[in-house]
Amino acid sequence: MKSSWKIETQAVQGSYEPKATESRIPAICQSTTFKYDSADHVAALFDLDKADPFYTRLGNPTTDSFEGKVAMMEGGVGALATSSGQAASAFAILNIARSGQHVVSASTLYGGTYSLFANTLPKLGVEVTFVDPEASHEELKKAFRPETRCIFAETIGNPGLNVLDFEKFSALANEMGLPLIIDNTFGTPYLCRPFEHGADIVVHSATKYIDGHATSVGGVIVDSGRFDWSNGKFPELTEPDVSYHGLRYVEKFGPLAYIIKARVQYMRDLGATPGPMNTFLFQHGLTTLPLRMERHCDNALAVARHLEKHPQVSWVNYPGLDSHPSYALAQRYLPRGASGVLTFGIKGGAAAGKTFMESTKLIALVVHVGDARSCVLHPASTTHRQLSEEQQIASGVTPDLIRLSVGIEHIDDILADIDQALAACK
Ligand code: PLP
Repeated sequence: MKSSWKIETQAVQGSYEPKATESRIPAICQSTTFKYDSADHVAALFDLDKADPFYTRLGNPTTDSFEGKVAMMEGGVGALATSSGQAASAFAILNIARSGQHVVSASTLYGGTYSLFANTLPKLGVEVTFVDPEASHEELKKAFRPETRCIFAETIGNPGLNVLDFEKFSALANEMGLPLIIDNTFGTPYLCRPFEHGADIVVHSATKYIDGHATSVGGVIVDSGRFDWSNGKFPELTEPDVSYHGLRYVEKFGPLAYIIKARVQYMRDLGATPGPMNTFLFQHGLTTLPLRMERHCDNALAVARHLEKHPQVSWVNYPGLDSHPSYALAQRYLPRGASGVLTFGIKGGAAAGKTFMESTKLIALVVHVGDARSCVLHPASTTHRQLSEEQQIASGVTPDLIRLSVGIEHIDDILADIDQALAACK
């Protein structure tokens, strides 16, 4: 059984099984549409009685092989690939929260997600209350309303790098009868297993470690298949859908109800579809994800330890350091390593930070993380610049914070580049 394979094997061999003479790896099926012999076959597709591909906005064999592999690696029942991580987060929420409803989210989020929640979802009538993930269970409970429909948080906050207390958040979600949606982009299916810690839905920016080579923007939603949508709060999943001849998702699709609804309603109507070339690259990226993550984690820990001892560095934030406030949570939820991103402050503040970023040679100044190549960024002046200073602080960004995404190059070369860039800041 493939589902009992170790994740390293699933990453390499999962979800695609070629027959004799078929291509060894999933082919790039660069086609908008597919041919049929009978009108009845096409009608069955439109009635969702068959799952064959019929139009690439709704499904494509290459995309299928990516979705199957990532679902298997996360331990879910199904997945939906999207054209970006942003689309994955937006669809994951809109699939269950409509105008007049409400979401509770950890405040420690990627800047784009924060902006989606603070500005765009409210324009669509979905309000979001941000909570401090370190708050107590009792404090967190105060954020909930009768119309709340889900809880959202990142495994490792970007760029605050706080590790989520899954036990606290999943207990809260259970108590409220709501799904817990986790952005596992920094966690990756290899380092963190949100479904084993009570999450119901996982989203990823596949752009990051899943791709791993900075080739493509994309996202994915994975469904654990475990949430009980018939608890009375989610009539859109249990009552007839007029846009599908009165189809009831839970009745027809059981544990796949949520992920099929996201595909046939939201992907059909809003169309944030990834191209087959990109999903080919994502499934290709997954093949080496476990190996790459091991090296990312080893290198990031070595860089964090090096910076911690450096006289020009005022602080280092990496959950793999035993001095980190999230260290115990990282040991529990990220036992294989605390991923490849760390942040630090240089003595000399924002000005020294700017000099540092302009002085690295191997480490490139790019708006990205999760690439095999090391990269550096100053979030306050870039990814989080649209947020107010107050919002920046709430999402974990201080003015002097420098974010390093440590790549998989040889550690000696990474450390030498950091040292020469720090020397330039003196
Ligand atoms: N979630 C996290 C944690 C991210 O870091 C990002 C992007 O940096 C996103 C979501 C959004 O993903 P994308 O850029 O693929 O839309």
